[in-house]
Amino acid sequence: MTTPLLSIVVPCYNEEGSIAALAARLDAVLGDYKTQGTEILLVDDGSADGTWPAIEKLCAKDAGVIGVRLSRNFGHQMALACGLDHARGRRVLVIDADLQDPPELLPAMIKKMDEGFDVVYGKRRSRQGEGGFKKASAWVYYRLLGRLSEVPIPPEAGDFRLMSRRAVDALIALPERIRFTRGLVAWLGFRQAAVEYTREARHAGETHYPLRAMLRFANEGITSFSTRPLQLATWLGLLMMMVSIGLLGYVFLSWLLFDTVRGWTSLAAIFLLSQAAQWLMLGIIGNYLAVMFREVKARPLYLIDRTLNR
Ligand code: UDP
Ligand code: MG
Repeated sequence: MTTPLLSIVVPCYNEEGSIAALAARLDAVLGDYKTQGTEILLVDDGSADGTWPAIEKLCAKDAGVIGVRLSRNFGHQMALACGLDHARGRRVLVIDADLQDPPELLPAMIKKMDEGFDVVYGKRRSRQGEGGFKKASAWVYYRLLGRLSEVPIPPEAGDFRLMSRRAVDALIALPERIRFTRGLVAWLGFRQAAVEYTREARHAGETHYPLRAMLRFANEGITSFSTRPLQLATWLGLLMMMVSIGLLGYVFLSWLLFDTVRGWTSLAAIFLLSQAAQWLMLGIIGNYLAVMFREVKARPLYLIDRTLNR
């Protein structure tokens, strides 16, 4: 089987209202590239509506459409991982099913990639049809994540991006099970570029990221890319230990110089000492946890961009 030029990966969950329109718009955009081989991978993430029948219909009509149905709902990032695993193209575009990401951006992304980039991601200039809370919380969150993360994760980017084959291969080879894809792609390095776009309102249906899912996703992002909160325990622990020792001095001075209540000195000393010991231990545990976190992820030690004379 020949390698297609381009794969389009689309995670779909309860998107029956968007699939047909998505296929039509992708088809129009793919026009010129089709002769060089393209495939559209629709991953049905355990939809409960007419999404799968709609995918079946498309597959019957067009051999360039590939349908994959997960056994249940595994979540957006897992559906995305499945799509990437099955994509065979030399370049892979990831796009949402709800047409919030315009397929028409593809030629611009391809042009950018031709300049020598391995990842070209869509950067949201503005967002339509999304509530003030979602926009504001995303703004705050991605700035916080940017501060905490060990690798810079672009703030106005989601999963709408074009990747080269070597970037996709490196991404799917990452062994971790929690797939905060936008962070993992940032971790890959290589040359990455942004193409700006306006994020449209959903074509049909509702977002599948209610507050609870958003919080879980947000937590996965921070815990997957930062040990800073753990290190915070160490610094806070040291600080609190110092404060405790200072207070201990005050307690003894008071005992020597003033008429303190009987028992107060010993009680205060016991409290402060055990407090200091606990803070110290928390810091130590945090430190080991941070190391274990790194080891357990088992990410590759490095990725090579290129070598010379070898
Ligand atoms: N999605 C999925 N599985 C899920 C939730 C969402 O495959 O459990 C897909 C969904 O069909 C869409 C994309 O992931 O193509 C983004 O989801 P959504 O549009 O609900 O998120 P939002 O754009 O509101 O952040
Ligand atoms: Mg959406």
